[in-house]
Formats: sequence, C-alpha cells, structure tokens
Amino acid sequence: MKFSQLILIFFLLFSLTAHAQEYDIQYRRLTGFMKTDARREINIPDIPGYKTLKCDFHMHTIFSDGIVLPAERVNEAWREGLDVIAITDHTTPQPKYVISDYNTSYKMALNTAEKRGITLIQGTEYTKGQPLGHLNILFTKDANFYARKDLTPDDALDYAGKEGAFVIYNHPGWPDKNSELEPFHIKHLEKKNIRAVEVINSNEFYPVAMDYCLKYNIAPISNSDIHNPIHASYDIARTHRNLTLVFATDNSEASVKEALLAGRTVAFADNMLVGKPEYIGEIIRQSLQVSKLKMGDYEFSCNVTNQSDITFIFNGPDSRQFIFPANSTVQLSELTADAEMVYKVDNTYVNSVDHFEIPLMFLLAAKDEVIMPFIRQNLTLIDPSSRIGITCPTPGAQIRYTLDGSDPTEASMLYTAPIDFNKSVYLTLKAFKPGYIASKTLRRQILLNTPHEPEPLKLTKNGLQYQYYEGAFHSATEIKAKGKLVSEGISGKPDVGVATATDFFGIVFSGYVYAPLNGEYQFALESDDGAVLKISGVELLNNDGSHSLSTVRGSMNLKKGFHPIEIRYFDDYEEQELRLFWTVPGKPIMEIGKENFFIK
Ligand SMILES: [Zn+2]
Ligand SMILES: [Zn+2]
Repeated sequence: MKFSQLILIFFLLFSLTAHAQEYDIQYRRLTGFMKTDARREINIPDIPGYKTLKCDFHMHTIFSDGIVLPAERVNEAWREGLDVIAITDHTTPQPKYVISDYNTSYKMALNTAEKRGITLIQGTEYTKGQPLGHLNILFTKDANFYARKDLTPDDALDYAGKEGAFVIYNHPGWPDKNSELEPFHIKHLEKKNIRAVEVINSNEFYPVAMDYCLKYNIAPISNSDIHNPIHASYDIARTHRNLTLVFATDNSEASVKEALLAGRTVAFADNMLVGKPEYIGEIIRQSLQVSKLKMGDYEFSCNVTNQSDITFIFNGPDSRQFIFPANSTVQLSELTADAEMVYKVDNTYVNSVDHFEIPLMFLLAAKDEVIMPFIRQNLTLIDPSSRIGITCPTPGAQIRYTLDGSDPTEASMLYTAPIDFNKSVYLTLKAFKPGYIASKTLRRQILLNTPHEPEPLKLTKNGLQYQYYEGAFHSATEIKAKGKLVSEGISGKPDVGVATATDFFGIVFSGYVYAPLNGEYQFALESDDGAVLKISGVELLNNDGSHSLSTVRGSMNLKKGFHPIEIRYFDDYEEQELRLFWTVPGKPIMEIGKENFFIK
C-alpha cells in the first residue's frame, strides 16, 4: 500500500469518528468560550540580592464589607500573578450571619493559599472613625483582640508593637482628601508601632505620604483595598491591581516581614512607582536591558529591551524624551552627550514632588562596570559661591576628579563633599570601585557668572578667518584631525557659503567679536549639522553631532572690548546651514554681522 493510500484511509476513519461525535445527541462539550484556570506572571524583575515579590496587603471578604469568599481572594491573587496577600477584614462588628471569630477569613483561606503557593499573612483592619482612621495590623496571631470594645487605640497599637505585628496607616487622605498626620499617628510612628503608610490605596495617591516614609524610614505601600471581585474593579486583562513590591530573600512569611521592617518596598499602581531612589533605580536598571551597544565619543547606538510590564518615560532637558514601552525593544541611535544628560523618569516618585533622576548613561554601564557619575546642576553661568554636588549611582564607588581636563585615575583628587569653584574650569570625573571596571568619564565645563575680560587690542579690520576642510565628520571636534584642508581666507560672518563641496565638509571660523558694552550677552547658534561656539576660551554653545536644523542658546557675561571667538561647523550630508545670533544687553536679538567681527 502506498503511503498516500494509508493517509487516505486514516483521514476517512477520522472523519467518520468526528461525524459520529458531532451527532451525539446525549452529551456534548463546548470549549471555545471557556477559560483555563491559569496564573499569568507579572513581569517586574528581581533586583540584585532580592526577589521582587508582588504583594497586596489590604482586601476584604464577606467577613466584613466585601462580597467575596476568603478562598476566592487567594484564587484571584494566584491567577493575577501575586506572591503574597493579607486579608484584612474590619474590626467593626461582623455581619450577623457569620460567627464572631475575626480570624475566620484567614482560617478559611489558608488551605487554598498553601495549595496555590500564595503566602497568606494573617491580618485585620483596625477600624476607627476620624481622626485615627484605619490601620492594617499584619502578622497578628489573633484578630479578635483588636475587636474588643474595651480596648483604647493607644493600647491597641502598643499591643501590636509588643506582639511583633506590622502596622500600616491606611489611606491617610481618605475620606477628607487631607493626608496630614494626626498626633496619634506621629506618636505611634515615633514609637515604631506604625511601620508603614499606604502611599496609594486603590485609585487614591497621597504624594505627601512618601515624605513620611522617608522621614520615619518606613515602607511605602500600595494596596487595592478590594471589596468587589478583583475583575469588577480592575482591568486585570490589560494591567495590574495595586501592588507593593517587596524585595525579600524568598516568599516565606519571615522573609516578607524582615523586608517590610527594613523598608525594602516600592509602591506600584497605574504604571507608577513610588519609593526610595535606590530601589526604583534597580527596578529600572533590571527592567531595561541594553544589547548591541556601540559607544563612540560622539554617538552611541544600542537596543534597549524593557523586560517589565512597566512603561518607562524619560524626560530630559529641552523636551528630549525617551519612552521604553513595557515588554518591548526600542533602538537608540543618539549623541553621547544626550546620554550624559540627566533625565526625570516621569512615571516615578521618590518623594511627594520629585521624579527619579538619572542620566541615560546608567543604562549603558555593563553589569560589572561602575555607573558614570553625574551632576544635576546646570553648570553654565553659575555664581562663584555655588557648590557643585556630584552623584554616583553605584553604591560604594569613589569619585575621582581633575580640573585640568586630564582623565582621572585612582590617584586623582577624591570627591568627598560639594566643590567650590572660583574660576571657569573643565571638571573631569570618573568613579572607581574595587572589583569593578572604572566608570566612563564625564567631562563638564564649569562656567562662572563672572565678567570675562577682553583682550587688550585695537582692531579695525572686519570679518573672520576661515579654514575650509573636506571629509566625513560626525563631530565638529573632528574637523582638524580628520579633514583635509582645502582652502582658507576671510569671511564676513560664519557662513556656509565659503564651502565648495555640497556635502562632507567642515569649516573653522576664528577671530574676535566686539562687545560694545559691559553686561550679559545671549547667544543662539543655529546649525545643520553640528556646530560648537567658543568665546574667550569658553565653550559656550554645543550644537554638535549630525542633525537637522536646530538651535542652542546660552548667555555669557562680557566686558566691553574684543573677545576671541571660534566657531567650528561641519556638514554631514543633505541640508547645510549656520547662523549665529546675539542679544546685546538692552537690544533685540539679531544675527551677528560683519561689522561686529574683527581680525588682526
Ligand atoms: Zn479602610
Ligand atoms: Zn479596607
């Protein structure tokens, strides 16, 4: 028998059976619209040394004002990908149809929790009117104690402390939208009876509560406080309920408690992270994995894969923005200078008002490399008395620096406290840590807001000298080193008209600009592609790199007279344009013309 005949017989037999099943009028099973009882994992990565547990420490059942059975809370949490929950029914009188044991919901859920592998923390919501409000008491051994009528709130919290329970001050801004702490809360925070605050409860965010967490060094918490079935209130097919991310060695009750007491948590809800910067930084770093990194002095490129369910939004200076969508890869091809800038991660809070701040460069460091130090302050036109603070995101790293532009070594000056500067200098930074590769180097010009002296010259010949080079450049700093000098001469102003090629060239203009009076001058450099402006030896404007027409602005304090000026410009390909504007104190903005430039 041929193979094809065999197939034919098999097919006939199969269709006969299928036919028979289709006409069974006694019993048939429908499957297409059913759902498998399955757990969907939450993608939020672990951090070095700890597992990231997804926890919800506040929910209700039919044993208070919820409408769900206790075991169903466990099932919901398991399906949604949670690791740890606490059922916290109110200590107000229980519904009449249930027996008066306030531990019932815990007892009824425990068996399911053990089977499902969910860590179930015994708890209760200690429920008082305003101003005391509600407090969750976790890890209690007997919830009935807190329901006693003769118990004062002070005694309740003192007992919780003694019992080794973990008390969370719940929804501080509910119901009056005022999250201020009452003397009662302050007293028990100071006595360490209250060990955490809900920064987020369901869809309510209380930003100031993060300040309390920092002040008292306690854990920020985000809880669902769910009363309905979870799917009735949260769009869990698309996102997650409120989660408290707990950084613990494992998911045992003891480890969870140890982590909570140490304050190792981040509150998460609605794509937003609220917590201490060290934990938020690690979540971001572990979420965003960099591959195919090509790091140049002027440009870099890489792929950034976001391995988490959280979309990260980085907002930088001058509307620079990078978005890393959840569970997606984006390709970056950017200027290295852009990676060195400090970005605010929009979907994070490290206190009541501030976002987590970091240069993009911290993503680009290898696992065994120290992260490049960074400076938050603007360094141009600072007052001579202002101090410069430097941060290195790698814990335990030493920051070394030089002021002469040279690359720092482990023997260079050690940064220990914010530095004073009394003159404009180049600050060069590098961080070191034993067993790690040294960080990338950060070079920054410190430009003081002191008047710049002119050169003692009397010039009468207008214009600028230019040198015209040809070559393929990626930066205005490469022109002299990589280009071929084709011609030189005198030009009225910075002007691409002196070029004879249409693409791949560079021009260096130099001479003097005459400042007609003392004061602060604003400059604007417009170029396509890159250009860099130096005045009086200071690199004032950097519009470097291959790009379409864009403008950078900056100001400088000049004394009346002749100031040396240099403009380096290059064209990569396509359009070319170069114009330099200024605002003389008290005058409108205008392009600097031939009459303002001088040569010897
Ligand atoms: Zn409550
Ligand atoms: Zn509640």
